[in-house]
Amino acid sequence: MKLRFLGTGDAAQVPVFGCDCPACVRTSVISSHIRRSSCCTIESQGQRLLIDAGIENLAGYLTANPVDSILLTHFHVDHVQGLFPMRWGKGPEIKVHCPDDKQGCADLYKHHGMLNFMPIQKQFEPFKVGDFTVIAVPLRHSKQTLGYCVESEGVKLAYMTDTKGFPDKTLDFLMQWQPDTLVIDASYPPTTSQHSDGKNYNHNSIDEVEAILDLFISARVKVPKMWLTHISHKLDCYLMENQHFINPSLNIASDGLTIDILPQEIPRHIGQQRLMAAE
Ligand SMILES: [Zn+2]
Ligand SMILES: [Zn+2]
Ligand SMILES: [Zn+2]
Repeated sequence: MKLRFLGTGDAAQVPVFGCDCPACVRTSVISSHIRRSSCCTIESQGQRLLIDAGIENLAGYLTANPVDSILLTHFHVDHVQGLFPMRWGKGPEIKVHCPDDKQGCADLYKHHGMLNFMPIQKQFEPFKVGDFTVIAVPLRHSKQTLGYCVESEGVKLAYMTDTKGFPDKTLDFLMQWQPDTLVIDASYPPTTSQHSDGKNYNHNSIDEVEAILDLFISARVKVPKMWLTHISHKLDCYLMENQHFINPSLNIASDGLTIDILPQEIPRHIGQQRLMAAE
């Protein structure tokens, strides 16, 4: 299974309009640092799914790279904005699996065009999308949001944005399901997990993601390869100064990057302990 990141930025994207911070200025020199809003494709056995639709020129991208179905994490604009023009396209309908969010976003339900929205009724239960087996799990965000656990060719991908931490049931499920790769919301640098007005953000900061990695390690299960996404210009600024302090197990996604989802082994010493316990 291959995953291609198309948009790894937050709602403001990078560069942020009118911002002259080092991360935003850098994009005018090195365009590979531009981050558009949430979007990726996963590919396996000749089938391709789109997860989220945050890039504005989605219709153009899908003309060259058609997808079989779409998985939507939630109806915030930065995850659906590419659907607004493309819904008026021509061709067979495209199924959009999504949270059962009665509000949706603007007039997407009312004027759905070629899109067939299919609200997911049952969380934690596998369903088939082509040859992919998909399990939707709830995330912790300001709008009803689903993470997607996708399995194909014997490897497992968990795509978990937008979220701040995980609901207990979702964390328990992930520990037991044991993804090989975990793509996770990492919007902010450390110590910014609260607004100055005291309200909580609805996204992870990078230290919160590191705490989740530690949970996998201490649970003595398979530790997934972690890719950070939904990255703000503030986190990019932080990474420009501090990348060498970041836990090397945390990988920073970038727009246009393609990764192979490869099986991760249970650490050898843990596997041996399990064998001994079972004897
Ligand atoms: Zn900036
Ligand atoms: Zn959101
Ligand atoms: Zn978002």
